[in-house]
Amino acid sequence: MKSHWTLENKKALITGGTKGIGKAIASEFAELGADVFIVSRNAEDIENEISAYKKKGYSLSGMKCDVTDENDRKELSDMIGGKWGKLDILVNNAGSNTRKKTLESNTEDYDRIMNLNLKPAFELSKLFFPLLKKGSDASIVNIVSVAGITSVGTGSPYAISKSGLIQFTKYLSVEWASEGIRVNAVAPWYIRTPLAEQVLKNKEYLDRILDRTPMKRVGEPSEVAAVAAFLAMPASSYVTGECISADGGFLKYGFGIL
Ligand code: NAP
Repeated sequence: MKSHWTLENKKALITGGTKGIGKAIASEFAELGADVFIVSRNAEDIENEISAYKKKGYSLSGMKCDVTDENDRKELSDMIGGKWGKLDILVNNAGSNTRKKTLESNTEDYDRIMNLNLKPAFELSKLFFPLLKKGSDASIVNIVSVAGITSVGTGSPYAISKSGLIQFTKYLSVEWASEGIRVNAVAPWYIRTPLAEQVLKNKEYLDRILDRTPMKRVGEPSEVAAVAAFLAMPASSYVTGECISADGGFLKYGFGIL
């Protein structure tokens, strides 16, 4: 029987694929049989990933690309168009944050976060539309955050960028359903990555996070990657517009002694 729990024959592009969650998604996708293409701003990191995957016998390539830069995005779509002539999976993962109270956040903070967390997902989705249309059961997976659903003290620009990306996911899923392109999102709570490291190494803050997390632990990047893989597989072929949380039960917990 032909399994639909696979990414065999899929061509996948992952932004921010050299660290943290993006790196785990690249690894999960490659292990599940996809041809993976990663981008980040650091050429050396990309080269290191390519040679590490080569040693494991997986198909991974990549290039330096700052997703906030219009010319870089165009170069990327030309590269993928020339290399594959189609795209089956686009993962909009690159993102970052500056934790500040709203009154301490200035216009530069706001613009920087929106320009990285939200705008590239909009622009890349549009740019790759013609290649995704040529893909089979094509899908976009956006990496959002529980911060886009409830208030978790990450600063309002980050929260706005992630809730915007959740709404973009829902909107596009409807608009592009008839084009054969599914659009879904994964919303992580705290995941052990370089981005979250600063927060997680503060013991007092970590204890407060664990106190609010029913599963009493932070997540691993592979636990987000597995959800992204499901959403990109034929196994989820009737799922679109969804935002699945990978949060150890965080969003479901209102009150009660844990
Ligand atoms: P991370 O450890 O900082 O990794 C971010 C990746 O994105 C790196 O590969 C980075 O490489 C790349 N990147 C950053 N800016 C880029 C740009 N302008 N162009 C291209 N690539 C860029 O972050 P993470 O924790 O894995 O987070 C990944 C996503 O998950 C983000 O969208 C984040 O908001 C979301 N998230 C994370 C958590 C968490 O607890 N970790 C929770 C909820 C949501 P370079 O810096 O070399 O470019």
